[in-house]
Amino acid sequence: MMQKKLVRSNLKKELKRLYRSMDFISNNFLNKANTIRGGFQTYFNIYQQLGMAWEFLGLQCKHWDGYKKIKNKKKVCKICGKIKDADNFYYLISKKGLKKIGKMLKSNSPKILNNKKEAEILNDTIEFHGALLNVNIYNSYKSNLLKGKHEINIAAERNVMLKERGIKCYIDNHAINIELANKRRKIGKERYSGFPWEIKRTKLRNLPVIFDFDEDYKLLGLSILQ
Ligand SMILES: [Zn+2]
Repeated sequence: MMQKKLVRSNLKKELKRLYRSMDFISNNFLNKANTIRGGFQTYFNIYQQLGMAWEFLGLQCKHWDGYKKIKNKKKVCKICGKIKDADNFYYLISKKGLKKIGKMLKSNSPKILNNKKEAEILNDTIEFHGALLNVNIYNSYKSNLLKGKHEINIAAERNVMLKERGIKCYIDNHAINIELANKRRKIGKERYSGFPWEIKRTKLRNLPVIFDFDEDYKLLGLSILQ
């Protein structure tokens, strides 16, 4: 609690100092008729950089003191000046400990929308220490992917894809799909899929998959040996 109060009072102090600097540059160098030519661009750049510092400091603000009304029915934070409900352009995440970005979003409309773009709720990607993670969430939409054929409805979905060392793992509402690195597949060779019982026992030996299951043969997981 003490720590939080300290962050809050420090942030307020930092922001106040920053506002003073911004006002100083603006009043003395940007809004005066006699600003020296050539110097203007430099002061303009300084002002932009201060603006960026403002944006980054603002990320730490939890808007503790509430909002005040400005024109156009908008509200701004009394401390950092951020407009209420406006999107952040950056994320502030701690270097140590758990990094958390965003919430667990799911499809949120029963309507079938006209196209994928309209239906999209989120499509975001992060590269995290060399691993790539994509989250793609959309509502139901109409699609005519099969050209010439009539429209089909694509179901609402939350897709998560993780890519590591060329291996892709896809998780959606209905399936978990793992795609091994492309280089394994020889050019010109067909691709087949099948349940284990559809594959000849002798051929199964070529597939290094281990199933984990309970006493009722309920699947608990599986391992693919590399
Ligand atoms: Zn704020």
